[in-house]
Amino acid sequence: MPRIERARELLTSRWFVKTAFLLFFVWACWRLLRFAAWARGEAPFVPRPESVAGILPVGHFTSFFAWLKGGGWDPYLPAGLVIIIAAVTVSLLFKRGFCGWICPVGTVWELAASLGRRMMGGSNLRIPRWLDLGGMGLRYVLAFAFFGFIAQVSVQEALWFRELPYMWVADIKIIEGFFAPMFVLVALLAFVLSMLFGPVWCRWLCPLGGLYSLFGLASACSVVRDERTCIACSRCTESCHAFVDVERAHDVRAVECDGCMACVRACPVEGCLTARLFRTVRIPAWLWPVLVVGVWLAIYGVARATGNWDTSVPLEVFRQVINSGLLEETTPGFF
Ligand code: SF4
Ligand code: SF4
Ligand code: SF4
Repeated sequence: MPRIERARELLTSRWFVKTAFLLFFVWACWRLLRFAAWARGEAPFVPRPESVAGILPVGHFTSFFAWLKGGGWDPYLPAGLVIIIAAVTVSLLFKRGFCGWICPVGTVWELAASLGRRMMGGSNLRIPRWLDLGGMGLRYVLAFAFFGFIAQVSVQEALWFRELPYMWVADIKIIEGFFAPMFVLVALLAFVLSMLFGPVWCRWLCPLGGLYSLFGLASACSVVRDERTCIACSRCTESCHAFVDVERAHDVRAVECDGCMACVRACPVEGCLTARLFRTVRIPAWLWPVLVVGVWLAIYGVARATGNWDTSVPLEVFRQVINSGLLEETTPGFF
């Protein structure tokens, strides 16, 4: 393979893209902790990274629904709203594109699953089909309960919630909570379960994944198999981390498909298994992640250029809130 093609394959590989987002997220979390340390007078000033806002889905989805209902833009933590709009957009356009190529949380569980596969001779343990279906159903129940509850919050309540100083520093509280012994224990348990059975959180529990899967159903892009040239080698099905039976599908509409392109890349017959727009226009496997990341960065760029990314809360107010004792109080249970 020519060097330029090899570089393109590497730069558009799922692990490269997802690891890049995960490392960026870890770096942003570290910056936020340094910002909190500055506010407490313990370290030099570091600008507040807005991108960590993505770890407050309840708060920002409340803000998102309020925005849809005419409650206006969130001037306090606009980055959270931008991240949700971007995640919904790439999932609508590219089959759960957020889960497949961006979400850093999912990357951690997929790393665990991949490690488990290596240690267990090539595959994670399969649980009975009925249990797997029950688990996946649970994710949609959780998604309906979670988003049903948030969607019915009135605009007035959502606007009040946006203005809570606690909300402005909840990201710091959550990140500091990552070091709590109980959190570490639960995370370790989830890591081990993911090593054994694959990413259990993503497949059976995450309500966000449930929502994005439903959006993905509306995607005009999908993986399409040409039955005339298929040699029934099963490589596509074997390579699918989401356990989709690709070799029996004509147009992969499975909710679990996140457009990872592993099956397309694994197919040995040129043009047999391809990503397509409206089942006609071919999208090369390398172009799919470029489009997902491109749309994501375009939304971020527009938000930034139009002044809809950075918080309007003055630094001095952050400093006062962080030193007010709010972060030491028990979490209100709603962020
Ligand atoms: S299912 Fe949830 S945790 Fe997993 S990748 Fe999707 S949004 Fe992230
Ligand atoms: S391997 Fe193919 S069917 Fe499976 S999730 Fe990836 S793109 Fe979808
Ligand atoms: S990898 Fe390609 S040729 Fe093999 S079963 Fe799948 S679609 Fe058919």
